Amino acid sequence: MSSVSNGPHAGQEASHDRLACQPSPLVMTVAEWWAEGVRRFGEDPDTWRLVCPACGHVAASHDWDDAGAPKDAIGVACVGRWLPNARDASGTGPGPCNYDGNGLNPVTVTDDDVVLHFFAFAEVTPEGGAR
Ligand SMILES: [Zn+2]
Repeated sequence: MSSVSNGPHAGQEASHDRLACQPSPLVMTVAEWWAEGVRRFGEDPDTWRLVCPACGHVAASHDWDDAGAPKDAIGVACVGRWLPNARDASGTGPGPCNYDGNGLNPVTVTDDDVVLHFFAFAEVTPEGGAR
């Protein structure tokens, strides 16, 4: 048995590479969501950064921990809910805010019959940070 890497199906690699420059899909499995987080930010989920859909505030997972939020609020409700002086989610201006999720989050993550709604991952800049 020999392994052929340049066969007629080699073009399938291109579709995989194409994903590298695309935004997060809006519906994915837990495994796909996890892979996307690792691809963007690395193996440590505490460093993954997520964008509040209400105020645009970007927070890392550990920011929720640091603010005293429960684990199930990470990427679901704005970290501002656990911070003083956060503005109202329906207001304007810079975040964080008091947005509480309510299933309106843009990314749907499914695992069998479980459906979760998360913030989108932050974009990674060439410098490695997020905007
Ligand atoms: Zn917010």
